[in-house]
Amino acid sequence: MGNVLIALGGNIGDVRATFPKAISNILGMAQATLLARSSDYRTPPWGEEAQDPFINACVEVETSLDPHALLFTLQKIEKRFGRVRDQRWGPRTLDLDLLAYDDAVINQPDLTLPHPRLFERAFVLVPLAEIAPDRVIAGRSVAAALAQLSTEGIERLPDLH
Ligand code: ATP
Ligand code: CA
Ligand code: CA
Repeated sequence: MGNVLIALGGNIGDVRATFPKAISNILGMAQATLLARSSDYRTPPWGEEAQDPFINACVEVETSLDPHALLFTLQKIEKRFGRVRDQRWGPRTLDLDLLAYDDAVINQPDLTLPHPRLFERAFVLVPLAEIAPDRVIAGRSVAAALAQLSTEGIERLPDLH
């Protein structure tokens, strides 16, 4: 079984309604168990700034799928939720990024682990620090990495009932 951290993001449609459905799909399609789920956060767009704010969250799951099979499954779920345009860093209904899979280090174009831009992104590290502050990824704890970044504009959203 692999312990996996996954980032969820989106800025088209009712993203906060999409997330729980996407998480159910991950659990079902990846034979995964949910270990932790962060709050949802509203975050300023990154990379391509002329677009709506994003909603971001992170989950920790345990799965029997290997990293490539898991990524393939996440991409199927993205498509199922209407991910069509694949402009990098552009608007999307659902983005599911594999942040870390155990201590696996993979350097392939289609799969890089840990996620190469993880430590530049407060919109990933803020939700991740909520569920796994002491997790060490590439030699750095999540909390220590987050302390190096500005969290300006990132807002924790109240839980939905
Ligand atoms: P970023 O990767 O900077 O967050 P993005 O999420 O907008 O950008 P996508 O268009 O969703 O990028 O994905 C581009 C490619 O990244 C995918 O085809 C996928 O194969 C590859 N990729 C490499 N490593 C990972 C990873 N750890 N998690 C998800 N996708 C990855
Ligand atoms: Ca992404
Ligand atoms: Ca992605």
